[in-house]
Amino acid sequence: MLELPHRDPCDLCEGMAGRQERWAIIEAGEHTLTVINPWQFEVGQCCVITRRHVATLLDLSPAECGAVLVAAQRVAGALLRAFAPLGILMFQNNGVYSGQETPHFHFHVVPRQQGSDWGVGPPQLATFDGVGRPRGTVHDASGDAQRRARVQVSAQQLVETAARVRSRLLE
Ligand SMILES: [Zn+2]
Repeated sequence: MLELPHRDPCDLCEGMAGRQERWAIIEAGEHTLTVINPWQFEVGQCCVITRRHVATLLDLSPAECGAVLVAAQRVAGALLRAFAPLGILMFQNNGVYSGQETPHFHFHVVPRQQGSDWGVGPPQLATFDGVGRPRGTVHDASGDAQRRARVQVSAQQLVETAARVRSRLLE
């Protein structure tokens, strides 16, 4: 069994219930929602999440698996049209030792821009002490606190960015 992060209540379920201030939907599908990531490490970065509260890729139905990639492809096209990024990074974490921080399935879609300080991949994975360590290693997120504070844009900015991406989705 994969060890899962604990977050009670679940922040993604709270967002879907309308109880999360920093929440903006780009696109809603039968199985998925595409939402703006409240941490804008890269402008426009978003996540495709499942409507069901399930933790990892291993918990998805075949229909949900398909829906996630279709939604990711759609928003990747919109990001390309909205921001002209150098590249688009997609990643998804299963279990705390892969860097998963929320126990609700989410698939990251990230436009990469010149001047980004992400290096070759998501920095939180590089700084997560638990990666590759024995079970029981406690995750100390404080090393990433400064970066997180810097990229926490306002709720209004999140809404505006989500609207910009949404406007570039194709029918
Ligand atoms: Zn949830």
